[in-house]
Amino acid sequence: MRPYFEPLEKKAVELGAAKAKLIETGQIVFDPRSFLKCRFGCNRWGKFWTCPPNMSISRELFMEAFARYRWGLVIQTTTPKGGQSVALAVEKEAMLSFNCSYPLALVLCVECDECAFPNPCNFPHLARPSMDAYGMDIGKTIEPLGFKVEFDKDGKLLPAWYGMVLLD
Ligand code: SF4
Repeated sequence: MRPYFEPLEKKAVELGAAKAKLIETGQIVFDPRSFLKCRFGCNRWGKFWTCPPNMSISRELFMEAFARYRWGLVIQTTTPKGGQSVALAVEKEAMLSFNCSYPLALVLCVECDECAFPNPCNFPHLARPSMDAYGMDIGKTIEPLGFKVEFDKDGKLLPAWYGMVLLD
């Protein structure tokens, strides 16, 4: 069955995404090992309001809310700034044109060069948690959709950034 939200794939590309694809939330992969990778090796740990362990909403509460969503729109962009702006625009579009009550963007927050943490967030209306902040395995989730996490020969991630908008 073709989902009601399918036009949002095209809309995301019009808004600046390189690609966008719908996924059923049942196909989204979670792996608690992602928390180890956040804690050990990521320079955003503890420095951003939108990254572990500072999100304020527990993983249990997030998963309770996540269970109410049926679709996610995976968005690929070539820059993190682009990712944040497209994901937020799609979130708004889902609410205004698709009668979606609680669309939620999951995308790396890069709004400020330096996060205001621990002072209050500068732009709380723009800040969202990233896909992996609550344990999502981004690589395993996007691979069946034809997306690939790719690295150059020095092991550096090639410039493809991923965000998602959860749709109810
Ligand atoms: S909007 Fe700025 S202050 Fe708020 S979480 Fe994002 S980077 Fe931090």
